[in-house]
Amino acid sequence: MTEDKMTQDKYTVLKQLYGYDSFREGQERMIDDILSHRDCFAVMPTGAGKSVCYQIPALLLPGITLVISPLISLMKDQVMALKQLGVPAAYLNSSLTPRQFDLALDNAFRGMYKIIYVAPERLVTPRFVEFSYCSDISLVAVDEAHCVSQWGQDFRPSYLNIADYIDRLPERPAVAAFTATATDAVREDIVRYLRLSSPDILITGFDRPNLYYGVETPGKKYDALLTYVRERPDEHGIVYCSTRKTVDEVCDNLTADGVSAAKYHAGLPDADRRTAQEDFTYDRVQVIVATNAFGMGIDKSDVRFVVHYNMPKDLESYYQEAGRAGRDGAAAECLLFYSPQDTHVAKYLIENGEIDTGIDQETAAKVRERDLLRLDKMVGYCMTPQCLRGYILGYFGEKTAPGGCGNCSNCRGSAKALGVADEAGKVMRFVEAHTERYGFSIGPKNIADALKGRETDDISRLGLASNPYFGALDYMPTERIRRVIDLLVYQGALKYSEGKYRTIELTGRKAAAESLYIKDDGRESRKSDRRREKSKGQIRRQDYDDSMAGDDSELYGRLKALRKRLADTRGVPPYVIFSDKTLLEIVKRRPKDRFDMLECSGVGERKLELYGDIFLKEVNR
Ligand code: ADP
Ligand code: ZN
Repeated sequence: MTEDKMTQDKYTVLKQLYGYDSFREGQERMIDDILSHRDCFAVMPTGAGKSVCYQIPALLLPGITLVISPLISLMKDQVMALKQLGVPAAYLNSSLTPRQFDLALDNAFRGMYKIIYVAPERLVTPRFVEFSYCSDISLVAVDEAHCVSQWGQDFRPSYLNIADYIDRLPERPAVAAFTATATDAVREDIVRYLRLSSPDILITGFDRPNLYYGVETPGKKYDALLTYVRERPDEHGIVYCSTRKTVDEVCDNLTADGVSAAKYHAGLPDADRRTAQEDFTYDRVQVIVATNAFGMGIDKSDVRFVVHYNMPKDLESYYQEAGRAGRDGAAAECLLFYSPQDTHVAKYLIENGEIDTGIDQETAAKVRERDLLRLDKMVGYCMTPQCLRGYILGYFGEKTAPGGCGNCSNCRGSAKALGVADEAGKVMRFVEAHTERYGFSIGPKNIADALKGRETDDISRLGLASNPYFGALDYMPTERIRRVIDLLVYQGALKYSEGKYRTIELTGRKAAAESLYIKDDGRESRKSDRRREKSKGQIRRQDYDDSMAGDDSELYGRLKALRKRLADTRGVPPYVIFSDKTLLEIVKRRPKDRFDMLECSGVGERKLELYGDIFLKEVNR
């Protein structure tokens, strides 16, 4: 094939196969690199469309494309999606019996597949090596390339074999690496350990404009979650919790409250986990409640919300987990329930958690220090009154336009920055006076109550009413006083004691006066103003570009139901038939015939053939 022909063809493949009109940022550049046999490496956020970058060249290049992927479920889903598009593909991993594995390899030998997904461990098996020697391999695409790095969250030692494997091939194929992980250390490791040869490195913007970001501090997390989930019965989402125990509790409670939910964590038997994941993928349950063990393997593109029931340990994890929402490009929500308690748990885990064996004391200390710094930034995200998207992108080194994104809880809600320098001073002086007089420390609840001027049993037992600052913040809701205390802890002017009871101590440091702001989202007045609470829930639904009138949402509902029926008969997940985004396109365009149908983004020729008529009938019913 001449280069000219190939450039022409990449557009044709995009349109005919996938049904898309134009490439997204970075895709074309990666495709061109690969077609001209240049190594390349792309850092693109989840949902940016990395697969298209190697699948299109795979179809245009003469030989086979190997996609090295760390996860079985991911491979399975991708192969299923490719088959739906009519592309001959297979996967080779430990989920196959030896017989199935041999059979697949035999087929591969006979050139029956254009794309083969393979687990890194398989590369070095004798049978696979033999196959590799006799086959024409045009491209090796390394998915989730950060697994090669020890600095990444998902280090996979067998990724270190990839470079040797490639070196031993009779002819060096093009090598393309992909990841969504952004840090410099990981990027450097990828280039080094995969031994990419003068690669073209592409780093696209990290923003995911279709995602809404929200932070809330609900008094009762579970109630808030239940309300949230009940408000969107037709949408599917993930609820992340920090411990297995919380997963069990939340999932059991949801089930008892009539929400269809499955749970997923590392403490469950393999079979249960697999069922849970499948039930979620195939839309048999609305919600999956999971620890971060539920991760990379999820290819479900129509996840409409990701709620974090606890704060994760750093923004890297948060962005990755939250990023599993809305991969199809339609509006989706990422909500984090923050409580200061989460900070403690996270800190405790970092300070007392197990460190990889084989790491010396000094490195271990450094890792801990790094983790604490990251945690700090995560807490900052939960407390900042500024634009949340701006905060995240800033953390990853990206500049954003001033003025906010208009699609996060701080930009949309009534959140304002409330200066609390004066109040912070009173909190500090209260604690100082108390420490001076009594020499023992007390907990944040009692401090807040005393400053508020409440006369509880604890207050009288501890003699707090005689503190000169007793009642000094009587004009401020206790909840807000707690936030001032949190802020002072965050800034390092106060700290929690090490002991069994979480009491507050002085650190001897001063707070930075210029950044004494707390987020004022009007929470305190909500109780007395139920109406407002309701409307707040509604504006949270971001209308990105798919706001719907009654008619539309009725049709959307019908199309979703049709998709589910088709998916069930074919034994594939609904999003493999059409993504939510594509259904929304169909709703918007109301196609009259097959030509109109092809105009809808996500409808390629193959899908038109398979599902065109039946969807047309439903639209025009
Ligand atoms: P990633 O692997 O980067 O997370 P995927 O490859 O799963 O992302 O793609 C995310 C979604 O975007 C998929 O539904 C995919 O079909 C869709 N997509 C990819 N490229 C395009 C494009 N050029 N136009 C429209 N949609 C696209
Ligand atoms: Zn914003």
